[in-house]
Amino acid sequence: MARAHFDTIIMVDWSGGNQGSVTPQADAIWACVAQRNEVDAPVYLRNRQQAEEWLLKTLAAERAGGRRVMVGFDFPFGYPKGFGRALTGSDDPFELWNWFAHRIKDAPTGNNRFDVAGQINLQFGGNGPFWGNGLKREVPGLPRTKEGYINPFPIKRAAEEHATRAFTVWQMSGVGSVGGQVMMGLPVLSRLRAHFGSALSVWPLEARDAPITVVEIWPSLTVSTVPDGWIRDQWQVYEVARVVAAMNADLLWHMLDVPVTPEGWIFGLGFEDTLRAAAPAPLRNDCFALPAGVDWTPVDAALTDLRARLGPVVGTQPCPIGAALGRVVSGDIRAPRAHPPLPNTAVDGYGFAGGRDAGPHVLPLVAADMAAGQAPDTPVPDGAAVRILTGAALPPGVDTVILQEEVEVNGAEISFLGPVKAGANTRAAGEDVTRGDMVVPEGRKLTPADLALLAAVGVEEVAVRVPLRVGVVSTGDELVQPGSDAAPGQIYDANRPMLVGLVTQLGHVAVDLGHVRDDRAALRAVFDRAAAAVDVVLTSGGASAGDHDHVSALLNDADAMATWRIAMKPGRPLALGVWNGTPIFGLPGNPVAAMVCTLVFAAPALAQMGGAAWRDPQGFEVPAGFEKNKKAGRREYLRARMRDGRVEVFASEGSGRISGLSWAEGLVELPDHAVHVRPGDPVRFIPWGGFGL
Ligand code: AMP
Ligand code: MG
Repeated sequence: MARAHFDTIIMVDWSGGNQGSVTPQADAIWACVAQRNEVDAPVYLRNRQQAEEWLLKTLAAERAGGRRVMVGFDFPFGYPKGFGRALTGSDDPFELWNWFAHRIKDAPTGNNRFDVAGQINLQFGGNGPFWGNGLKREVPGLPRTKEGYINPFPIKRAAEEHATRAFTVWQMSGVGSVGGQVMMGLPVLSRLRAHFGSALSVWPLEARDAPITVVEIWPSLTVSTVPDGWIRDQWQVYEVARVVAAMNADLLWHMLDVPVTPEGWIFGLGFEDTLRAAAPAPLRNDCFALPAGVDWTPVDAALTDLRARLGPVVGTQPCPIGAALGRVVSGDIRAPRAHPPLPNTAVDGYGFAGGRDAGPHVLPLVAADMAAGQAPDTPVPDGAAVRILTGAALPPGVDTVILQEEVEVNGAEISFLGPVKAGANTRAAGEDVTRGDMVVPEGRKLTPADLALLAAVGVEEVAVRVPLRVGVVSTGDELVQPGSDAAPGQIYDANRPMLVGLVTQLGHVAVDLGHVRDDRAALRAVFDRAAAAVDVVLTSGGASAGDHDHVSALLNDADAMATWRIAMKPGRPLALGVWNGTPIFGLPGNPVAAMVCTLVFAAPALAQMGGAAWRDPQGFEVPAGFEKNKKAGRREYLRARMRDGRVEVFASEGSGRISGLSWAEGLVELPDHAVHVRPGDPVRFIPWGGFGL
């Protein structure tokens, strides 16, 4: 095999059983995706159908991203010598894979692995090689125990002679047995192999170099103790993925350099000590430790800075309230009139003066009806009552109203039973707003309810801020626009429509400044144009410190730059600069990071530049519907949504996964310090609306 490196390591803990529960548990499937510096949270896959779909999707995404992948599965890829030939007539291990793929029936509710094992046994006399019927019913040909067991094949593969604690592939049931997993795993591998063709090779059944290398692993070889709060399988895939991802490429290649064998081999066999030694110190419990020599800015510090540095940059203009929805108010607005302006009735009924004791009462009616809108100019004599309808101002002599349903009308009299409290069913003048009260404060973004309030107190026109003009630019040589052909290696510009949408929903005027290549001069020209045309610019991509990161380089050259390596995930680099007086936000290129950074940093900053009050994102504590172990030293935002009173998070934390952004309805914010969130624990959920969308 060529001396290849891997960009992505995926480790899978397989299962031969039926569907696992909705909440994560052992004995279903766990998978973990890791890259050199980044280990995703292990993914729980309830059944093999879900797992197969996830594998196809994940591997396809890695392929599309041009990344080389090593995928490990924790079950043997082959059977001891002679079995394949006896069953299929061939020594080609993949013939055996296909043989199972044709015969195994698998659904979340059940599968036929015991029957297939029994049928194989019957071909060989009925006493082996398989044993361990795990079903209640008898399975023809498959004994429950090893009594009378005859195996025409070797008990172990060569690998199991070395990994002495490993179970044999012939045992179909019992804790730790692997026979069922193989039978239920090979058909899936067979299909993956067919799907990816020459892009996938199986180690060490074949000696081919391919972008996807599938390897057999056995996590228990080196991973033993499981930390509190972790499910064993979950921890094992996490640990193995983490360790292998961090491993030196030469060492990894050396470990994979074994002879081709149709039986398969276990990755790491003979290298146990090396593997244990290669395990980088666990990421947990390193409370608040930041990488040595790196100056990470905590999220709150960055926000405090932004808040202090950026003020309103737009003027004001008058605006009729009919057109003022979403506009930012300039100056406090006071009520020219009280609300309600006069005391009035809250119900349809009969009005009179004073309360009444318990017992029967009879009052004469004055010959008038008081309806809403009518001037209260008919006085009601003491001891008499008047018909009065909801909203009508109380006439002189009335301060109490009885509901019409509680009254009997007899010609020119009403009778009812007391008691009635003085003042019942009435509203006092100005009980909502008194004249001169401040109804809407400076910096408020007007809501429909605000418009109702302004109208109620008689305001017809307000002073509002001129809308902030926000330019949006995408950077990167790899980007093309949807609708045009994308060459291999090119991707479509996803950030621009997203950022234009976010800016618009945040209430600003988005100005699409297009796409610019990773070219210093072109970028400079765009910045020059932007500085003249807009109040602030959002760029995406090129914000780190790499050779192609021209946004930061250009701003740096202009001495107008602060790159913040922000202690958050996703995100990290945020370049902030001022170009000819126009602030520039250099957002990360990854769409997920770009959106999260926009919401966390740009949204409050833009609001303030547009004259609105600074507003921290409004979230609330809800029970978690997920498990997550988070290390210290950075804040994390997970794509999330509420379902059935719990907050669920997107299965992958990969910051290029736009599908997760679209799936989400908000973010879970995990604090800077280390936390281990278990299902049911309170976590902070911020719906999109909490960010001002
Ligand atoms: P950069 O920050 O420029 O290194 O980009 C980081 C990642 O985001 C790379 O994989 C880019 O291809 C990707 N990326 C940058 N800009 C965009 C965009 N406008 N749409 C989609 N992906 C992007
Ligand atoms: Mg770029």
